[in-house]
Amino acid sequence: MPCLTGLVADFMSSFPKILAIDAARYAIAAGGLVLVLRLVPAGWVAARRLQSRLASRADRAREIGYSLLTVVIFALNGYGVHLGVQSGLFTIWPGLPTSELVQAAATLALIVVAHDAYFYWTHRAMHHPRLFRFFHRTHHRSHTPTPWAAYAFDWPEAVVQAVFLPLFLLFVPVHALVLFVFLLHMIVRNVMGHAGVELHARGWAGSRWLGWMNTTTHHDLHHATGRWNYGFYFRWWDRLMGTEHPDYVRTFDRATGGAPKMMEVRDGTQIEKA
Ligand SMILES: [Zn+2]
Ligand SMILES: [Zn+2]
Repeated sequence: MPCLTGLVADFMSSFPKILAIDAARYAIAAGGLVLVLRLVPAGWVAARRLQSRLASRADRAREIGYSLLTVVIFALNGYGVHLGVQSGLFTIWPGLPTSELVQAAATLALIVVAHDAYFYWTHRAMHHPRLFRFFHRTHHRSHTPTPWAAYAFDWPEAVVQAVFLPLFLLFVPVHALVLFVFLLHMIVRNVMGHAGVELHARGWAGSRWLGWMNTTTHHDLHHATGRWNYGFYFRWWDRLMGTEHPDYVRTFDRATGGAPKMMEVRDGTQIEKA
C-alpha cells in the first residue's frame, strides 16, 4: 500500500494527464463535429436539420460549462481506475498480440453491448419523477441539443455515467486498445446523437441490416419530447420495452428525404408537404 505522500505524488503526476485526455476527447469530438457541420454545404445541413428551433448561444454556453464539470468527474473516475489497476483490482493489459485479436474483439463487443444496457436502464431510472430533478434535469435543458451537449450532465448523472467502466472492469479484464476504442466509439456516437442534424444515410432507420443501430433522429426525439428513446447505441431495449417513439422511422425518413417533409399550418397542426 503506498504511503499518503506517495499517493499525493502519484495523483499530482497522473491526474493532470488523465484530465487532459478526457478534456481533449470531449473538445475534439464535439468541436470536430461542429466544424464538420460548418464545412459541409449549408443546404444539406438545413435540409437534414431535425428541429425548426435553433439552439441559442446561451444553450451552447450552458452545455459546454456542464460538460467541463463532467470532464473533471470522468477524470477523477479515470484516476480511480488507475489506482484499481495499480492495486491489482482491475486488469488492463498493455499491447495486443495477434493471438489475442479474437478475444479482444469479443471483449469490445461485450463492453459496448453491456454499456448500452447500463445506459438504457440508468437513463430510464433517471427519468423517474423522484430522480429526474437531481440527476437528469440539466441534460434535458437542451431541448434542441448541439454536439456540445454530449457531457452536459448534473454531477450525479456524471457519476452514474462514469462508474460503468470500473464496474465492468471488476468482472472483465480488457486490453488497453479495447478500452481506447470503446471510449472513442462512445464519444463519437454521443456527439452524433446530439448533432441536431441527421448524419446517417437515407434508409438507415428502416433498414433490416442497419436499423438496429441508433441514429441522430433517435436521440433528438428524446430531447424534443422528453420521453421515448432511452437507448444509446442500439434500438434493442427501446423496442423490447415499448419505449421507442412511434414515429421514429418516419421522422428519420423525413429528415433524410426518404419521406415528405412536414409543413406547419395555421393552428399549429402539421401536414405533409407534397
Ligand atoms: Zn433523458
Ligand atoms: Zn442527450
